[in-house]
Amino acid sequence: MNDSSQRVAIVTGAARGIGAGVATRLAQDGMAVAVLDLDEAACRPVADAITAEGGRALAVGCDVSDPAAVEAAVTRIADELGPPVVLVNNAGITRDNLLFRMGVDEWDAVMNVHLRGAFLMSKACQSYMTQAGMGRIVNLSSTSALGNRGQANYAAAKAGMQGFTKTLAIELGKFGITANAIAPGFIETEMTQATAARVGMSWEDFRAAAAAKIPVGRGGTPADIAATASFFAREEAGFVNGQVVYVAGGPRD
Ligand code: NAP
Repeated sequence: MNDSSQRVAIVTGAARGIGAGVATRLAQDGMAVAVLDLDEAACRPVADAITAEGGRALAVGCDVSDPAAVEAAVTRIADELGPPVVLVNNAGITRDNLLFRMGVDEWDAVMNVHLRGAFLMSKACQSYMTQAGMGRIVNLSSTSALGNRGQANYAAAKAGMQGFTKTLAIELGKFGITANAIAPGFIETEMTQATAARVGMSWEDFRAAAAAKIPVGRGGTPADIAATASFFAREEAGFVNGQVVYVAGGPRD
């Protein structure tokens, strides 16, 4: 069913972690949600949970760095759910290494998912948003944008997301489209669990060490980021444009 009164959101990298939390929250806010990730089957539990709660959701398999796949996915979402007016560019990977050990493949992989992916998804969705005269683009940056040892690729990509966001805000504002970025600090997901494993720490020790450095005394959760995305996606947030909000339990990390 295509209910034209219901806003349609796309959340990338939504099969798990922060993306799954954002998709679930936007559905609770009343939106129809495309749960997009590399593997469509992995998206289904998130989409099914939304449907079970009475919402509308579509599981979509797509590599956000592949132009043809992005075009096909966004067209399918527009056909099956309705024209997308909210886009959350959340898909992400890490390929951490010190600069002298970092391979070109590790540099390119991170740039491709974060920057090329956000570029392709935003480009594919903006025509639906300009036609609707309303749009909300929310990009996931990171406190790593301020610099982080072992993350030259990721830090550059996440700083790039901030420049990308501010430029979209300037170009698209006149069409009723806002673009804002969320820069999370330490959020408890499989991504940070993988980092713990990489540095040889148990998850509990890693998590406790992170919490000890965070002013509010705990690690963040996907729900913390979802609440911020929910605010940016609201119609009443239409005068908030080109901003970066650090959601890190303190002023930065
Ligand atoms: P996560 O648990 O690793 O989830 C990321 C999701 O993105 C995975 O489901 C992954 O799929 C998907 N993905 C990767 N490459 C993709 C591609 N080319 N196309 C479509 N989907 C793709 O990560 P997270 O912790 O939730 O992080 C979500 C976002 O927040 C990322 O942009 C991350 O950089 C950012 N962030 C996270 C933290 C943190 O502390 N967790 C802090 C700051 C910023 P696969 O599982 O198949 O690889």
